[in-house]
Parts: sequence; C-alpha cells; structure tokens
Amino acid sequence: TERQVQYLRQLVDGARRIAVLTGAGMSTESGIPDFRSADGLWSRDMSLADAVSVDYFQRDPAAFWRAFRDIFHIKLVGDYQPNDGHRFLAALEEDGKEVTILTQNIDGLHGRAGSRRVLELHGTLLTASCPDCRTPHPLDYVQRHELPACRRCGAALKPDVVLYGEAVPMIDVAFQAALNAELLLVMGSSLEVSPVNLIPVEAARAGIPCALINYTPTRFDALFDLCVHAGIGDTCRQLRS
Ligand code: NAD
Ligand code: ZN
Repeated sequence: TERQVQYLRQLVDGARRIAVLTGAGMSTESGIPDFRSADGLWSRDMSLADAVSVDYFQRDPAAFWRAFRDIFHIKLVGDYQPNDGHRFLAALEEDGKEVTILTQNIDGLHGRAGSRRVLELHGTLLTASCPDCRTPHPLDYVQRHELPACRRCGAALKPDVVLYGEAVPMIDVAFQAALNAELLLVMGSSLEVSPVNLIPVEAARAGIPCALINYTPTRFDALFDLCVHAGIGDTCRQLRS
C-alpha cells in the first residue's frame, strides 16, 4: 500500500479543485462510532432505517427521540475533536486548493477542523427545529429534555438531520461540485446510503478521477481509479509526510 499512497499523493498534488465525499468512517478516530457499530446496540425489533425515519418521528416522537439518542450518542459537541483526517482536508485548503467537502456526517467536525466549504448533506446534530414554526433550538436545550418541545409553540422538535424518508435538500449542488472537480475523493463511507452513493457513480461516468480510502470494500470499488483499504488517519499522515 506504500505504492497506493504514492499514487494517491500524485492524484491529490495534480488536482486544484477537489471534491471529497465523507461518511461516518471519517469520525470513528474521533471516537464517534459509525453505523455498523451502532446497529443492534439499541433495538432488535426495528431496522436502523425505520428508527431514524420521518415516519417514526411523526408516529411517536418520544420513542423516536429515545432511539435517536441511543444511535447517535448525543453528547456535548466539545466531547469530540477533529482527527488527522479532518485536519488533512483542512490543510489542503490552506495549500491553496479549492476543496469542497460533501459530508454525510452530522457531527460538525469538518467545520471545526477549519474546512470552509462543507455541505452537510444529511444535516446537523447541533440543532433541532420545530416542524410547525421552524424555530431552531441549540443542542444543549435538546440535551436537557427527554422529549424536547418547541419553546415557542410546544410541538415536538425534530433534529435538523435528514431522516430516512426525507429528501436530501442539497443533492443537486453536491453532484455539481463533484462533476466540477478534478478529483473526487471518497473517505470513510460504505456507500450504502442513496442518493449520496450515486455521486461517485456519476463522477466516474464523467471521467473524473476517483479515489477511495475505506477500511472495507464497497460495492462501487470497481468505479475507482484507486482504492486504499486502510485507516484514514494512517493514510493521511503518510500522505502528509
Ligand atoms: P457507514 O457506517 O455505513 O460506513 C462507514 C465506513 O467507514 C465503513 O465501510 C467502515 O469500514 C469505514 N471506516 C470506519 N472507520 C474508518 C477509518 N478510521 N478509516 C477508514 N475507514 C473507516 O457510514 P456512511 O457511509 O456515512 O453511512 C451511514 C449514515 O450514517 C450516514 O448517512 C451518516 O449521516 C450517518 N452517521 C453519521 C455519523 C457522524 O456524523 N459521525 C455517525 C454515524 C452515522
Ligand atoms: Zn414551534
């Protein structure tokens, strides 16, 4: 894999506009488990997709919030710090590259690492809003209430994350950013969640060089010019050295 890292460095060095699609694997080294580890921890009689769905929220907000908290281990944002992977991407921007991060993560760590162009495609854990009057509420309010209710109208708050059954609002902008790039990097995603997993499909079809850093193979690996099946932190530290 030393050869692979060398090739990856070439691809990164040669591109000025880089789009980076990141997933939960990006933040495991910050101590936030990915979906694979969360699955099964909290319930055996409902799939993850059913629990984190807009249907479930509407049917039973209290049960939804109990499951949601279990799955996402909502803690103070300050409990988690960006890792070398996040910092690597922020440093690329400092090098003068135009880096657009398309993230499926809802933890806010890319922004905290200093990346400036971040599209949070699945929303953010840092706020919850009222479905009726739209009033946003900060995470510390959400944490203090088992079933957080709107301070203005009393309705059950919905986390500002994109739930299963909801559209991904910025998906068109994300595709555009990928298709405008000279390199698409995918980091820490199983590429199982649609429609985001079609971003590398479209980019590869358009002839844009694509590289992946992910522990485990994905079903789209064949599309990539290069797949590094290794840790993100290790790989990024090697790229920087
Ligand atoms: P996923 O859990 O389906 O896949 C994560 C992938 O990352 C796995 O294939 C795993 O092998 C790989 N991985 C884990 N740690 C790694 C590391 N250190 N180095 C290299 N590879 C590593 O995640 P997904 O594709 O993002 O899809 C799951 C959904 O879960 C997303 O929609 C996301 O919104 C949500 N989610 C977000 C967070 C977060 O914000 N941190 C955490 C859990 C789930
Ligand atoms: Zn309200």
